Amino acid sequence: MAAADASGLSLLAYGDVVAGCTKCALAEGRTQVVFGTGSPTAELMFVGEAPGFHEDKQGVPFVGAAGQLLSKLLDGIGLKREDVYIANVLKCRPPGNRDPLPDEIEACEPHLWRQIELIQPKLICTLGNFATKLLSGRPDGITKVHGREQEVVLGGTRVLLFPIFHPAAALYTPRMLDVLQVDFQRLPELLGREPAPPVVVAREETPPPRPAEEAAVQLGLF
Ligand code: URA
Repeated sequence: MAAADASGLSLLAYGDVVAGCTKCALAEGRTQVVFGTGSPTAELMFVGEAPGFHEDKQGVPFVGAAGQLLSKLLDGIGLKREDVYIANVLKCRPPGNRDPLPDEIEACEPHLWRQIELIQPKLICTLGNFATKLLSGRPDGITKVHGREQEVVLGGTRVLLFPIFHPAAALYTPRMLDVLQVDFQRLPELLGREPAPPVVVAREETPPPRPAEEAAVQLGLF
């Protein structure tokens, strides 16, 4: 079933659909799809880049060294992995952990939009460049925009986007880890913010046909 046909499904059922995804060539080399993990009603969602070796084997995002750092950072603000939702831009492991390719991101992004639509998080933390650029729709890199929240509309929901460094980048660079920890400390405050009013999508009235169009429609009947 295509992503566009899955609008009535719950997150769990949608995960089952995505488990069989063959929309890009990564399907051929994966052990399994790494859909996402955590609370389906989480207020806080994290979006990373792509599964690595351990994630591909276990089917769970952020279980390797970067994941352990993420769990530690969550612990530092009184949260557990089960309190949040964790997903990636790509649901399948790129060979050799190379960067995601544009066509892979394009093929996979409907899955992420649907996850956001179903979870309706209040705050999305993008981890690193790939998630930040995709979700902000801007080319600005993480070094420039980390720690700067912005309101965006994703999956029809108004969300606060908060880009931070990817934990993998902070693993071996103490200066980056400091920045990541400082940015992480802002999460409780951002979560406590008043929710923005719901987005009202104006329905477009279909304008009545102009006389020339009317004639063309008439002619088309014969
Ligand atoms: N890095 C990511 O971006 N995602 C994972 O799941 C693991 C490492």
